[in-house]
Amino acid sequence: MLSSLTIPSSLETLHPGDVVKWAAEQFGAEHLVVTASFQDATLVHVAASAVPGIEIVLLDTQYLFAETEWFAAELTERYDLNVRIVRPLPEVQPDNQWRTDVEGCCQRRKVEPLTRAIEGKRAWISGVRRADGPTRATAAIAAYDIGRGVVKVNPLATMTDADVELYAALHDLPAHPLVDKGYASIGCWPCTSPVAPGEAARAGRWAGAAKTECGLHL
Ligand code: SF4
Repeated sequence: MLSSLTIPSSLETLHPGDVVKWAAEQFGAEHLVVTASFQDATLVHVAASAVPGIEIVLLDTQYLFAETEWFAAELTERYDLNVRIVRPLPEVQPDNQWRTDVEGCCQRRKVEPLTRAIEGKRAWISGVRRADGPTRATAAIAAYDIGRGVVKVNPLATMTDADVELYAALHDLPAHPLVDKGYASIGCWPCTSPVAPGEAARAGRWAGAAKTECGLHL
């Protein structure tokens, strides 16, 4: 029973890669799935280094930046990643829904595909960090996700922005090509803007709207 699983508090002090290894030992590598936005290389590098061949899902919302698709392909080749692209249901066609109904658009293009992506899995690994902003400040390293019936694992939860920069430097990770253009947090192109120096990274997501999360991590 996943719901009765005891999650050790010692995970808080583990290296992110060791958190992924813990998940593989607990649930079996074949029962893990990583969801990656490919806005940077950190999560996929941590996960694939810890558990080579681990399944990594990219949710193709139909509105990814061309640069994100290119970057995902680059990282896949460079690190020999096992990437599965999950798309919206066939009846969901590009329709400009993002202009009038961002909640519904995210529901059909992110939340529903995620449900299919994690079907049959025991644990879902995401790149959520506490430093991402207030809505993520209390993210657990691992916790039972009652609604989805899996254990959600956030191996990067304790990493600060400086930690991410250091990890990238230590491992010579390439950067998403939009970072140099001021994009600090990168999602779909209609809902992502560059941020000013010093501004919170996620301030560029749904800028000007009350929305701060796509629904995957709520
Ligand atoms: S982030 Fe924007 S374009 Fe992407 S699924 Fe959500 S509303 Fe649609």
